[in-house]
Amino acid sequence: MSRAELFKALNRVVLITLAMLAGAYILLAGQFVLFGFKDPVLHFTLATTFTFILAPIGAFPLVVMSDRLRAMKDELEGLVRLDGLTELPNRRAFFELTEKVFERGDAVTLMMVDIDRFKQVNDTYGHDTGDRVLRSVGQSIQHIVAQAGGTCVKFTARIGGEEFAVLVEGLTADAADCLANELVRRIGAAPVQSDGQLIAVTVSIGVAHRRAGDMPGQVLRAADSACYRAKRLGRNQWCDAAAAERPLPALTAA
Ligand code: GH3
Ligand code: MG
Ligand code: MG
Repeated sequence: MSRAELFKALNRVVLITLAMLAGAYILLAGQFVLFGFKDPVLHFTLATTFTFILAPIGAFPLVVMSDRLRAMKDELEGLVRLDGLTELPNRRAFFELTEKVFERGDAVTLMMVDIDRFKQVNDTYGHDTGDRVLRSVGQSIQHIVAQAGGTCVKFTARIGGEEFAVLVEGLTADAADCLANELVRRIGAAPVQSDGQLIAVTVSIGVAHRRAGDMPGQVLRAADSACYRAKRLGRNQWCDAAAAERPLPALTAA
């Protein structure tokens, strides 16, 4: 327990002791009025002494335990919103934040970022290296997004196997498009180092700007479709959801 925590706990123990003393005085005063005492000073002195001894002994462990339980609850609440592999916020955290941001009604852009041909990375280098690549790409996305435009709200989460979601609030559509472009460019330009090997990684991104009245699910689905379109157009690129609404020619080969 740190000194600050101990000080806080002691403060609460003092408050509890004073409250119990006040309670004991009120009880004694009631008894005195109803039944009278031969020696009221003795009664009040005994009540004061016992309260000052017993109340801190009883209250201190309870206060410390309740502080520990609260700290554990906060830690657990953090863990259920964290992706264990990349240490980024997880799908749950992303959807909770998206709901909140959409309630504010400002300009919001959602992006779906999907690593290209990630299965090949696993097949070629093994699952452990695949995990390292996921961690590295996740950190890169978060880093690049964090550098984007000023004080706007920016959030990166891992929402699926090799899928990340980005939320930016308060950026113009053009600035958000620039960010998507930066993500594609910088991730493609920086191969991931693992066990002395350089592993080239690219991403495809779907970008959807919220339109008036859009719900989070709609915007995310639009970003997902745009990501799918970026894949079909050859990967290693970003695609705007508005463009994704226009049909592509039918696929001829897988
Ligand atoms: P595309 O360019 O179309 O997105 O191809 P892809 O190979 O990236 O997509 P696909 O959906 O075929 O494969 C995704 C792969 O991601 C398959 C799965 O084994 C791998 N994967 C998902 N989660 C994890 C993980 O936590 N660790 C590792 N190493 N691999 C994962
Ligand atoms: Mg995928
Ligand atoms: Mg993929």
